[in-house]
Amino acid sequence: MEKKQFQAESKRLLEMMINSIYTQKEIFLRELISNASDAIDKIYYKALTDESLVFDKDSYYIKVIADKKNRTLTIRDTGIGMTKEELENHLGVIAKSGSLAFKKENETKDGHAIIGQFGVGFYSAFMVADVVTVISKALNGDGAYKWESSGADGYTIEPCEKETVGTDVILKIKENTEEESFDEFLEEYRLRAIIKKYSDFIRYPIKMDVTGR
Ligand code: ADP
Ligand code: MG
Repeated sequence: MEKKQFQAESKRLLEMMINSIYTQKEIFLRELISNASDAIDKIYYKALTDESLVFDKDSYYIKVIADKKNRTLTIRDTGIGMTKEELENHLGVIAKSGSLAFKKENETKDGHAIIGQFGVGFYSAFMVADVVTVISKALNGDGAYKWESSGADGYTIEPCEKETVGTDVILKIKENTEEESFDEFLEEYRLRAIIKKYSDFIRYPIKMDVTGR
């Protein structure tokens, strides 16, 4: 399978995330939950103008699934999903606003300024994960696709199976090192605390499922 390269600027931000010494790595969850919520908003707004689409409140939610045995943390949403092109264009490239801010405000080497001032978004996942897999099925798409990256050397996209519209962002959580702990991001109490701290205002239900020990 062909490995596609990130845009130069995205690659810089990504490298910064991967090598981040930033202490508040926990904000990755805020970023991914906010993307999930935005994706549900998009279906909600569509339903306001599209009569064929009914927004049944109970079918829209975010789910955080920790699997300790496999060291994966999944952020699932029932939002609008991404087509193949959207996976390519939105995850391979920094959001325009982000890149502008990046140019203007940032010349610190450690990334503190970036992370502190702006939502760095999706790439913050690489602070805690060494592989990020996105499985998505768009509302108006042609099936499901899997986007996967293990960092700055690029990403792959391939067709895959997914029954329902929405997105799963699956993080392969890094192994603990002598300096840093990542196991905590698979612990229910810790995840609950992070969600409470940063995502309390999210207007869709955030469910949780933790397995393994
Ligand atoms: P921002 O949220 O500021 O646009 P992000 O880096 O967080 O930047 O996300 C980039 C883009 O990727 C989003 O604008 C959106 O188009 C797309 N995206 C990310 N996560 C999801 C998701 N769960 N569902 C649908 N689209 C998503
Ligand atoms: Mg975002």
